[in-house]
Amino acid sequence: MDYDTIAAISTPIGEGAISIVRLSGSEAVSAADRLFRGGKALSDVRSHTIHYGKIVDPATEQTVEEVMVSVMRKPKTFTREDVVEINCHGGLTSVNRVLELILDQDVRLAEPGEFTKRAFLNGRIDLSQAEAVMDLIRAKTDQAMNVAMSQMEGKLSLLIRKLRQQLLDILAAVEVNIDYPEYDDAEIMTTKILFEKATEVRERLDRVLSTARQGKILREGLSTVIVGRPNVGKSSLLNQLVHESKAIVTNVPGTTRDVIEEYVNVRGVPLKLVDTAGIRDTEDVVEKIGVSRSKELLKSAELVVLLINGNEKLTDEDRKLFALIGDTPAIILINKADLPLEVSVTEVEHLAGGNPVLRTSMIDEKGLDELEQAIASLFFSNNVSSHGEAYVSNTRHIALLKQARSAITDAIEGAEQGIPVDMTQIDIKRTWDLLGEIVGDTVSDSLINELFSKFCLGK
Ligand code: GDP
Ligand code: ZN
Repeated sequence: MDYDTIAAISTPIGEGAISIVRLSGSEAVSAADRLFRGGKALSDVRSHTIHYGKIVDPATEQTVEEVMVSVMRKPKTFTREDVVEINCHGGLTSVNRVLELILDQDVRLAEPGEFTKRAFLNGRIDLSQAEAVMDLIRAKTDQAMNVAMSQMEGKLSLLIRKLRQQLLDILAAVEVNIDYPEYDDAEIMTTKILFEKATEVRERLDRVLSTARQGKILREGLSTVIVGRPNVGKSSLLNQLVHESKAIVTNVPGTTRDVIEEYVNVRGVPLKLVDTAGIRDTEDVVEKIGVSRSKELLKSAELVVLLINGNEKLTDEDRKLFALIGDTPAIILINKADLPLEVSVTEVEHLAGGNPVLRTSMIDEKGLDELEQAIASLFFSNNVSSHGEAYVSNTRHIALLKQARSAITDAIEGAEQGIPVDMTQIDIKRTWDLLGEIVGDTVSDSLINELFSKFCLGK
């Protein structure tokens, strides 16, 4: 299938000093060639080579930009189409000018994510890999990046393909049984095979689903609320966290308004700090937003960091905050450890009800390592290794895996209850379909369009 030629400004991940105008499609080389002035015409160069020259306005032959141009002929390219990358090092204006000239050559401006979409449509990557490209762009910590990277390399896809093959094997065994009903043992044999293989598939689904919570945190951040009454040290803590991790401020596209969220990186765990504006204003959260709203905020948080002033006796307000935490995981900080201890540690530990209690000083920077350790071990106690097996982090994938698990469970239970195999066949087929949706084998065009529309421009 041949699509039209597209172009966009594409800045490399990590953002360097250069910007790239990227073209993809059958006219990519000839379009670039009309603007390029160098030693050789781009249409004559070998594939996967890079060339120094100038981009000129063909109407005037005036130089617009000095460039390095990469020419990559299909099919060994990201989109499996001819790709040209014009590396510009001038400012934004000249890059935009180069793009403008390119767009005058019967080349269309790419939609967000369209390069990745082409890679998918041309069979270069599957849907889960395409989604990983988007995750990679937005990754908030190195660890999140590793997860996205391994998904992009196809670790999840490989697992899904394996499981689908096993499901096909089961279906094949069932078919044999249906085709040769005269063998008495066939049904018993088939049920046995079905039961064993389906159980294996379910175990594998369970294992990958067990990475979902951590994967999701890595991808989306752990929503964290810092609470405490006025002057206990919330802003100081925030500043310490931000200072140590070089806070990641992410502009999340795809939301109705472009919400600015603040993230800090704690040993690879991206903390998404909720309502930091309130803390920054040195305002007391509870006072400002009211008890019921605070309750809501604390409930929806995945982690609460509650500070109390160790240099003062506990107040009823402190006790109220403990009560608001409820079941949300919390870490209690007895702050101002550099000052004499006035608070009753026994009472604090009692109120903490099993949540870790740490003594900290924002002035002496004491206890911060312990805090980071507590956060990390709270969420990555079991096997967080990005080098491990497939990791699942995407909400869509998690939902499909759960549905697949429930479908295969129906099949297993059917087999256990001696339901005829041709009936359980339906559940196996359903499992196969659901897993297919993850990699994009069995998805609708509208879903594909929706998924790709969330991408960034130039990717
Ligand atoms: P917030 O109102 O909870 O945000 O508290 P702030 O972070 O604004 O701190 C209130 C005051 O307590 C400031 O003067 C801080 O310098 C001071 N403070 C914060 N943490 C500590 C600490 O660990 N030890 C001491 N001695 N002072 C602290
Ligand atoms: Zn404050």
